[in-house]
Amino acid sequence: MELVFATHNAHKVEEIQPLLEGVAHLRLPRDFGLTQEIPEDFDTLEENAQEKCEFVYAAIGRDCFSDDTGLEVEILGGAPGAFSARYAGPACNADDNVEKLLRVLAGQSHRVARFRTVVSLVFGGERYTFEGRVDGEILTSRRGASGFGYDPIFRPYGYSKSFAEMSLAEKNGLSHRACAVRAMRAFLEAQGSSR
Ligand code: IMP
Repeated sequence: MELVFATHNAHKVEEIQPLLEGVAHLRLPRDFGLTQEIPEDFDTLEENAQEKCEFVYAAIGRDCFSDDTGLEVEILGGAPGAFSARYAGPACNADDNVEKLLRVLAGQSHRVARFRTVVSLVFGGERYTFEGRVDGEILTSRRGASGFGYDPIFRPYGYSKSFAEMSLAEKNGLSHRACAVRAMRAFLEAQGSSR
């Protein structure tokens, strides 16, 4: 089957593609001429995931899914959460966001955090949601050069490496995104076998 992934984020595509291998062939909005920014106007991951998916479904009219991800830092009451992409301001980049979080947590020993991904799916005209999360801590400085976003400062519990020190396969073995996408994959496989 073909599924449109409602994103322009090449890193997310790189991570998700192998997780859906053999089940779904990924198409991207730009394959259908949709290059404009995909909106995420809400303050929860669930609403943003749904908005992104509905936006692309309305434009393209094919089965599609989206991923909205946030880094939730316990001592900050779950911030930046749904605002993770815009944490350092509307025109900021991932480096600025990491810099701000390191600054905000400077001198703080309680650094518990989690990544949470909500995947929203429109399949056969019906709506479905899948979630994945991973617990860990915010490091005191950047480590590693792989991955993207906050990966250099997040160490999942039970591992000595930051996400940015892991290979793609290692990160996919345990990440928030992989958990959510594996749940979607199991759902799609079940749909396929019941047809
Ligand atoms: P969004 O899901 O595209 O809104 O992403 C929210 C923010 O979290 C962006 O700044 C991303 O760079 C960052 N982000 C999303 N997924 C990950 C991840 O797997 N690792 C590190 N940062 C991420």
